[in-house]
Amino acid sequence: MKIAVLPGDGIGPEIMAQALKALKALDLRFEAEQAPVGGAAYEVAGHPLPEATLALAKAADAVLFGAVGDWKYDTLERALRPEQAILGLRKHLQLFANFRPAICYEQLTAASSLKPELVAGLDILIIRELTGDIYFGQPRGRRVAADGAFAGAEEAFDTMRYTRPEIERIAHVAFQAARKRSKRLTSVDKANVLETFQFWKDVVTEVHAQYPDVALDHMYVDNAAMQLVRAPKSFDVIVTGNMFGDILSDEAAMLTGSIGMLPSASLDAAAKGLYEPSHGSAPDIAGKGVANPLATILSAAMMLRFSLNQAAAADRIEAAVKNVLSQGLRTADIHSAGTTQVGTEAMGDAVVAALKRQG
Ligand code: NAD
Repeated sequence: MKIAVLPGDGIGPEIMAQALKALKALDLRFEAEQAPVGGAAYEVAGHPLPEATLALAKAADAVLFGAVGDWKYDTLERALRPEQAILGLRKHLQLFANFRPAICYEQLTAASSLKPELVAGLDILIIRELTGDIYFGQPRGRRVAADGAFAGAEEAFDTMRYTRPEIERIAHVAFQAARKRSKRLTSVDKANVLETFQFWKDVVTEVHAQYPDVALDHMYVDNAAMQLVRAPKSFDVIVTGNMFGDILSDEAAMLTGSIGMLPSASLDAAAKGLYEPSHGSAPDIAGKGVANPLATILSAAMMLRFSLNQAAAADRIEAAVKNVLSQGLRTADIHSAGTTQVGTEAMGDAVVAALKRQG
């Protein structure tokens, strides 16, 4: 097994070091090779995704990614900004399926902004299509409006589009994921207003014929946004397009009260994937040793499960994380009265100790 390790910027290297410690404690045979990405790569190679980093990511069985970005790069031209690295990796590795679990750990229920009874035991999975939709649709740009009430004025435009194969492949991924859970899938669209999402709904309904054991329902995105805060536990697996998924997955993440706890996976058609925490590079706390490494450690667990066929090892990591939370250990972002605040490194050490205690 070969893992490409891309720590990136800000808190990226600090949290990645803890995830690597946890992986090593499992005594699995794997090779981990590091490469710079994001701002760190721009500094040494003049580009956020250098050829050598991309080649390593392509050759590896899986990519473990920290985070990229820093405000100091905000004045660079768009193509050279750190965030372009993640877009480039998604595109070159054809990572079209983004898995974002939102799990509310029993010990952290109080950290949510919702009432405890609404989020206790929450465990939902949002599957977001990642390489299509209005984020990539062409044409896009700025021009002078040719018609309408403001003809002759400057305007900007983007194109929302999905082809049938793009919808079919994400629908198959979602039905298969639902099959492994409670066999319930909600497809989120805006079919009442958008042609693209009427097509989405039609194609998902057609694919459903191949998964009669999975219950499918359709929901408009505005209603889904409401239901996520009204009754989040009414969902199990949600599948949606790139833009709606971007927004809903962040909303779902915050239901759990702790962005520092949530992993994510972006997979290609062969389940090769890129695994990263759902949060960014947190430049405000970088270098202070206070970042929560658990989202990255849990991303490593997802990597073991989805790309490296090591489900038992993934279970061990997840159990170790629950164990340290039960001990009352908390980084600053999830700290509350009556718990013990620890730094990034101490949290990583506690996970390693919990793994070793499992034998
Ligand atoms: P962010 O997720 O980095 O930070 C938001 C807030 O959450 C900050 O207060 C931060 O301190 C806190 N936070 C984030 N992760 C944490 C952790 N593990 N432990 C404790 N606290 C944590 O989002 P932002 O501030 O909007 O963006 C900062 C930079 O990250 C920007 O340059 C942005 O473009 C980039 N970004 C990168 C990714 C990625 O690499 N995939 C994703 C989102 C944002």
